[in-house]
Amino acid sequence: MRTLDTRTIVVASHNAGKIAEIRDLIGPFGFSAKSAAELSFVEPDETGTTFEENAAIKALASAKASGLPSLSDDSGIVVDALDGAPGVYTANWAETAEGTRDFQMAMQKVEDALAEKGATDPAQRTARFVSVLCLAWPDGHTETFRGEVEGTVVWPPRGTQGFGYDPIFKPEGHERTFGEMSAEEKHGWKPGDAEALSHRARAFKLFVETCLTA
Ligand code: IMP
Repeated sequence: MRTLDTRTIVVASHNAGKIAEIRDLIGPFGFSAKSAAELSFVEPDETGTTFEENAAIKALASAKASGLPSLSDDSGIVVDALDGAPGVYTANWAETAEGTRDFQMAMQKVEDALAEKGATDPAQRTARFVSVLCLAWPDGHTETFRGEVEGTVVWPPRGTQGFGYDPIFKPEGHERTFGEMSAEEKHGWKPGDAEALSHRARAFKLFVETCLTA
């Protein structure tokens, strides 16, 4: 395990929602971080078949381009009744013919696929959000952290906060969707806390415990 001896890193992402959440999480640790989007780095092709592979592709591309340690996130929603789909293809399900992303459409696709399976009961609509964070150094070393949160897919979508598929995901033990939670509630974690709620905050907690304790 390698610890991080600088607080200047790149957030290896072009996804505004993720960048905002990672900024929230690293904020209390005194990081100064530009994103790959702000640095105009080209988005690498996500050719992996696992969250871990795609997270490493993004972090390594950014570490190589910037010469700085880079933190990526590869994430998605895994729906049990859909045999794990959309999974690593979660972003692809939102792609439009024009090359933009439409998450209303993507959430509708999930609902249509569940309806096709006759999955109307909450017990048939279990899912989890997965986030794999990868910290890559310019010399090619990587450290990888996985966080997951169990929940159910609800319909219709609820709430306008967060991003992506947040309005249809209700985490276990909660009555509101991520789309109905503030960022603080969705993270469910601040430095020193023993538990976190979101997949990203759970992965980030592992990153803190591994890489930021010198
Ligand atoms: P990728 O990691 O860039 O391949 O894409 C991840 C996809 O999962 C994006 O389409 C996101 O919208 C979705 N996603 C990941 N994390 C979250 C989350 O915390 N809330 C809602 N959607 C998410």
